[in-house]
Amino acid sequence: MPELPEVQTVLDGVVQVLGGKSITGLECYYPGTVIIDPLLDRDPFPARLIKAERRGKYMILHLDSSACIIIHLRMTGKLVYEPQPDEPHKHERARLLLASDDALRFIDIRTFGKITLLDSCNLAKYLPALGPEPLSQDFNLSYLQQAFKGRKAPVKNLLLDQGLVAGLGNIYVCELLFRSKIRPDRPGSSLSAKELREIVKYTKELLLEALAVGGTSVSDYRQIDDKTGEFQHFLRVYQKRECPVGHKLQNLKLAGRSSFFCPECQK
Ligand SMILES: [Zn+2]
Repeated sequence: MPELPEVQTVLDGVVQVLGGKSITGLECYYPGTVIIDPLLDRDPFPARLIKAERRGKYMILHLDSSACIIIHLRMTGKLVYEPQPDEPHKHERARLLLASDDALRFIDIRTFGKITLLDSCNLAKYLPALGPEPLSQDFNLSYLQQAFKGRKAPVKNLLLDQGLVAGLGNIYVCELLFRSKIRPDRPGSSLSAKELREIVKYTKELLLEALAVGGTSVSDYRQIDDKTGEFQHFLRVYQKRECPVGHKLQNLKLAGRSSFFCPECQK
């Protein structure tokens, strides 16, 4: 599932493709993929992109017609830019039509992805409550101390909670806990200030490293030109059998997800 570095990489690609180009329409080929805000009482196209932002795993495209498009890739969604594409592809669920008959295809095998078209003034209504961005200054030791206080839930589950911190998913949480030398099943409240400081430090370090190489492609994730990211070559525990030191890894199910960790390196 695309996480912060993958979503940001796709968004950067979208901005490049849309730069100055007019969006002429949005077509839907699968029921439920495109959601239209009932308060949007006009055709918002043609329109140009005036600002693009990411919140957690959501991309938000602000248009000059006072409308916005929220794109959530969920598990298998991907956006692929294609100049003058032909008929919709088998798993193409929607398409953003661009000037010169170019398009951004929304391809999504599992069909959980969503594109919402809404009036800009309703943005808050269409986004869930999200915690701070992990790369912002708001994600710091004192924030985590307060967020983890009295929490018996495993640290892994807390970090996956989008309301606590936005944009992390299974791959990066496994990796950041390995770098921080913390077992994923430790209750949140049992972590010391030193350990929380390590989480803050390694979360930022890991995300910046992944962003620099276009994210992690372990399954469906692709960049907008259909190229893979490269961070899968730098993973240390996710879907591995041994940690870099050579210890045998264990795999625990937490929050319904496989948690790869090293019982020797992580305490
Ligand atoms: Zn180890």
